[in-house]
Amino acid sequence: MSLPTHEHLSVQTIPNAGRGAIANHHIPAGTTILSSAEPAAHVIFRQYRKEVCAHCFEYDRGRTLPVRDSETGKVFSSDRCREAWLSEHGVLGNEAWRALHVFVQSKSKAIARSSGALPSSSMKPSREVVERAWSKAEEQVRLYTWSQPMDDASRPPPARASNRTQAKSLSQPWTKHVDPNILSYFLSGVLFRSLHPNHWQKDVLCLAMDEEPYRSTEDLAAHCNSFVQLCTIVPGPLLESCTADVCRTLINAGSHNAFGIRSGSDDGEEYAGYALYPSASYFNHSCTPNILKRRVGGSWEFVTARDVDESEECCITYLGGDEKHLTVSERRARLSETWGFECICGRCLFEAGSGVMI
Ligand SMILES: [Zn+2]
Ligand SMILES: [Zn+2]
Repeated sequence: MSLPTHEHLSVQTIPNAGRGAIANHHIPAGTTILSSAEPAAHVIFRQYRKEVCAHCFEYDRGRTLPVRDSETGKVFSSDRCREAWLSEHGVLGNEAWRALHVFVQSKSKAIARSSGALPSSSMKPSREVVERAWSKAEEQVRLYTWSQPMDDASRPPPARASNRTQAKSLSQPWTKHVDPNILSYFLSGVLFRSLHPNHWQKDVLCLAMDEEPYRSTEDLAAHCNSFVQLCTIVPGPLLESCTADVCRTLINAGSHNAFGIRSGSDDGEEYAGYALYPSASYFNHSCTPNILKRRVGGSWEFVTARDVDESEECCITYLGGDEKHLTVSERRARLSETWGFECICGRCLFEAGSGVMI
């Protein structure tokens, strides 16, 4: 698979760091080197659903935004944003978001019960446990699909359930817990896959994947449950994109590549959700970044913070500005916990080696 090239940047393999963005030529300070497209998948957390525009992610200091679409439950900063969102998602997308909204509303008790259900001491599940859980989820979907009237030609062929009662009883446990955040993230990605199959293939599938993205067995179960639930909610024509493979790709890619949706541009204090921007995911981290990022509506712009030499790697900070104040041990601890690597940027090597600020 060929790696992306832009006017100022080429994505290249970096020794010991996977892939990175390398400057094609000398770039003066203050140059916009990349503007990302809209996200391939995103979620605005449920507690922020009335405060963050579903189209441009605007957040107005916690105020409830003025325009609401009652059928999907989405809020917008203006009628223009609402119109843009509606046309971007098309008839099928609107139908799917409406169906999800109705489902979540009808399961509000299940949301309350499942919130805070993650025990802090739980262990990451082994790969074997992960594979088993997803196979079971796929089987549930087959059983559910089989139990439904086959009035829609786009639904997959029936599964091998021995009887209809068994299918019905097996599908019940999956509606006990509802996680609107995972459901929204999955649905946005499934729609992207359906609306932009070429971009899914070209941009999303070549991202670096985290093969162990689940924090606990409960986290794994919540994702598998959400996948099964989504298959029972989405309109028939979307089922082709609503597969375990697609949902697992969204989780695995999101774990290492997602950008926070924050109230400000970079240093914002409110963490209102996250989004997957494939074209912006090749920047590695540095604790002295030469690239600054700023959110412009629903996309990101990347600007050189200083002159960048030809062949120099372009790096952003993953610490949202906190790197300015943290010691090398604090930075490394946070990066290791959230992103799974030990930082060996020039500043970290210098500070760790010399004993400064440890
Ligand atoms: Zn807006
Ligand atoms: Zn560092």
